[in-house]
Amino acid sequence: MESTLRLQSLVFVTALLLVVLSQAPPAAQSGAPSPPAASPKLAGYKRDLAVDIDSMKEFTQQMVDSVFSFGELGFQEVETSRYLTGILKQNGFRIEQPVAGIPTAWTATWGTGKPVIALGSDVDCIPQASQKPGVAYHDPIIEGAPGHGEGHNSGMPMNVTAALALKRLMEREHIAGTIVLWPGIAEELLATKAYFVRAGVFKDADVVLFAHVGSNLGVGWGDSAGTGLVSVEYSFKGESAHAAAAPWRGRSALDAVELMDVGWNFRREHLRPQQRSHYVISNGGDQPNVVPPNATVWYYFRELDYEHIKDLWDIGNRMSKAAAMMTDTEASMRVLGSAWPAHMNKVVAETMYANIKGVGLPKWSADDEKLAVALQHELKVPEVGLAKEIQPLRGKEKLADNEKGFGGSDDIGDVSWNVPTVTLNYPANFEAGPGHNWANGVAMATPIAHKGVTAGAKVQAMTALDLMMRPELVTQAWDYFKNVQTKDRKYVPLIRPDDKPAIWLNEQVMAKYRPEMQKYYYDPTKYRTYLEQLGIKYPTVR
Ligand SMILES: [Zn+2]
Repeated sequence: MESTLRLQSLVFVTALLLVVLSQAPPAAQSGAPSPPAASPKLAGYKRDLAVDIDSMKEFTQQMVDSVFSFGELGFQEVETSRYLTGILKQNGFRIEQPVAGIPTAWTATWGTGKPVIALGSDVDCIPQASQKPGVAYHDPIIEGAPGHGEGHNSGMPMNVTAALALKRLMEREHIAGTIVLWPGIAEELLATKAYFVRAGVFKDADVVLFAHVGSNLGVGWGDSAGTGLVSVEYSFKGESAHAAAAPWRGRSALDAVELMDVGWNFRREHLRPQQRSHYVISNGGDQPNVVPPNATVWYYFRELDYEHIKDLWDIGNRMSKAAAMMTDTEASMRVLGSAWPAHMNKVVAETMYANIKGVGLPKWSADDEKLAVALQHELKVPEVGLAKEIQPLRGKEKLADNEKGFGGSDDIGDVSWNVPTVTLNYPANFEAGPGHNWANGVAMATPIAHKGVTAGAKVQAMTALDLMMRPELVTQAWDYFKNVQTKDRKYVPLIRPDDKPAIWLNEQVMAKYRPEMQKYYYDPTKYRTYLEQLGIKYPTVR
């Protein structure tokens, strides 16, 4: 999620306030006919999955640490994709790449027939978030370089572990079904999942089990408390001139950008409080003595639903034209990404939640706890350590606008309006950082991440197995999707028919840092862990 760990606590608090929590067993909450209780055979298979996934701990740790060390920004996930598809190919999965015209996007498929269960998670990282893992203060591996300050290095390794264990069990017991793995590419740019939907990546999927790093094991259903958005770039074209000798002959594109931004910041007071909007000037000219003939400003317009997102976007479009008129420049606009506000499936969430309770939280060591508390102390946030208790199942079919309190967005929303979907949160991190920050990377190649991913993999695999062995769950999930979720609201993509994935983004930044970063790629043939390779004592605290 292009978001922070705070999301979970906010959603959690919201859920608590709404008193929508229930102690009833999952089947009793769905309103649908109660499914037959899970058979002893299914319970036995789940135990086998757990044992198998525990036996893969070292393999899981190597994947988590490797992807952490690649630290690739959105659309540039070259090493990450090569590495993960390599493992899957070796294990008999059929790889398709590229997907939807996106070079680093792929799917990996194994199995035959129904149901088709699609396991996804994001893989891109955050600009300037380079950080040594296991160190409880800011200490970059490479100053200024990108890094996994959102924890996206852990989700696909978790899905790979889950898928390999599931595949072995399906082979052994001749269980029908298809597993599809797919990475969320450029999620921090909200830039691909609408294109995946448009390209038909999910057209055969029965259920999508998405996953996002968090500070606890958890899942929810219904309206998300977050926003959707459209990511739009406005470019202005003027005329250069000697800024001192003949400024009257110039038309400054940067003036247009600044006037648009000033206009937006005045307008902000008169927008709904639910909106979030922010911008960066991605091109502000070359040097002061040349009147900038080209300039670009990049906006994220966030709101709670499709209509309000479109409203913000329209205001932005008008403002860009007004700024162009004021400066006698020309404005153009292009879409770089989009995300629908998510709505998660009740039946699948309840099924997953039963497995969450069965798996439980990892056993944290004294060192794990020490790292968490030290970083919390460093950042002056409550020193609560690691998660000790599983959160209740959270969910409500429709949240009113004033019940939504979280600004972040995630383009899994687009998927959730096309196929029954849930997002598993797994405890590979802890509450501390503000999100999109070096601090959110501290735990991400440590035993905390490794244990959290192992726990999450069990939940993913067991939930997929439930869906394969209890077809009535898939039927009920689609019943909720068709007759509840999409009854009054139909998906209309925010991307327009001619929009294309912005695959050029981050190319230059990665080209700048990659050569230096390559020296720090994790080598599991030489080192047991990435911490060992970097020579970091775990934990390192002040
Ligand atoms: Zn994320």
